[in-house]
Amino acid sequence: MASRKQSSSKNEKQAPRLTRQRTIVLDVVCAEDMHPTAAEVFHEAQKAMPGISFATVYNSLRYLKEEGLVREITFGNGASRYDSVTDRHDHAICSMCGKLVDFDLPGTVALTRAAARASHFQAESVHLTLYGRCQKCRNKK
Ligand SMILES: [Zn+2]
Ligand SMILES: [Zn+2]
Repeated sequence: MASRKQSSSKNEKQAPRLTRQRTIVLDVVCAEDMHPTAAEVFHEAQKAMPGISFATVYNSLRYLKEEGLVREITFGNGASRYDSVTDRHDHAICSMCGKLVDFDLPGTVALTRAAARASHFQAESVHLTLYGRCQKCRNKK
């Protein structure tokens, strides 16, 4: 009987294992560009799968983040929010209603280089956050 050696190549990246729960959670994050919090994802996921637990949703989010399928973003001391856009981009956040909008400016790469020079750091990522009031809140009197 031939002894089977388990071939475990470390640099072989496995495809993400998307269980039904993880697929639902991913769908919720991708459904809108609303950058939901874990609690909001939980709320939506329950509609697709009644009985899904918050822990399952939370663990799924963590898994999807590790697999690079969603991005976790945090602002100040607010709750983490989840973003289906994993390409580099920046955010504008409304200080009144919490609305989060994606934007990407061509100047950010140049800014990254300037920041690296100024700090003597090797640049890996830079994130700009614009804080202010969205159009809707500005029009509210
Ligand atoms: Zn607003
Ligand atoms: Zn975003």
